[in-house]
Amino acid sequence: MPKAHPVISLSAVTKRFGNVTAVNNVSFDVKPGELFALLGPNGAGKSTTIKMLTTLLKPTSGKMTLAGHDVTRAQDSARQAFGIVFQDPSVDTEMTAYENMELHAALYHVRGGAETKARIRTLLELVELWDRKDTLVKNFSGGMKRRLEIARGLLHHPHVLFLDEPTLGLDTQTRNLLWEYVKTLNKEEGMTVFFTTHYLEEAEAVADRIAFIDHGQLIALGTTKELTKQTGTKTLEAAYLALTGKTVRDETPGKGDEWRNRRRARMMR
Ligand code: ADP
Repeated sequence: MPKAHPVISLSAVTKRFGNVTAVNNVSFDVKPGELFALLGPNGAGKSTTIKMLTTLLKPTSGKMTLAGHDVTRAQDSARQAFGIVFQDPSVDTEMTAYENMELHAALYHVRGGAETKARIRTLLELVELWDRKDTLVKNFSGGMKRRLEIARGLLHHPHVLFLDEPTLGLDTQTRNLLWEYVKTLNKEEGMTVFFTTHYLEEAEAVADRIAFIDHGQLIALGTTKELTKQTGTKTLEAAYLALTGKTVRDETPGKGDEWRNRRRARMMR
């Protein structure tokens, strides 16, 4: 079998904000159909990497491709190739779940008519929101909003789904359910999934391969088995600790994170 082209490729990607080098000369590839996790302490450069891959930020130097499209030169084609679920739900709360799906279809120029209706139904059924399709989203719980975001992000049949901390602030049961949906989609649609999380056990349970970044640099990449072997440890969490010298949970959140978490806690209530 010929080697499949990577669906995501970063080559010597650097992003500077003034004196801060947020992402420092990072190169790696993600294979089609992979479930790929990007892990690292706060401020490591995860969000900046996702923002660059999703055309929200321009790299200072280096090259990135998404489903074969140059992310900086062919932004529109690159945008059609992915769906994204942000940390903070961005669904419109004054509309129903179904209306949110229709609006997104229009924004992405998904062909209208029976085909789109069927697609909306399939996706809402998949995330178990079909029976709530006519409910205003403001009456949804945090977990339901996140599920709706996932369904919406998939409407235009993207090659890649980006999930930036998709389970932050959700209870364990909802987190497990969310990953079940994501894994089903990955299997049924052959969709590549690129995610960040602070929960190492999630990455261990879900990801095919994991990249660790710290201070903007890629410090290790492999399967859980490879990373634990490389560090002589037993769990991904221990491997992470050995490689970064940090535990994930006792990170002191930056001001921005505190603000975000407070805001999220309010939204989840
Ligand atoms: P992570 O997502 O891993 O927590 P980020 O990618 O958000 O990390 O941040 C990486 C580094 O870049 C941090 O030092 C952060 O303060 C800095 N940074 C991120 N965005 C900006 C910005 N817009 N302006 C200046 N510095 C930024």
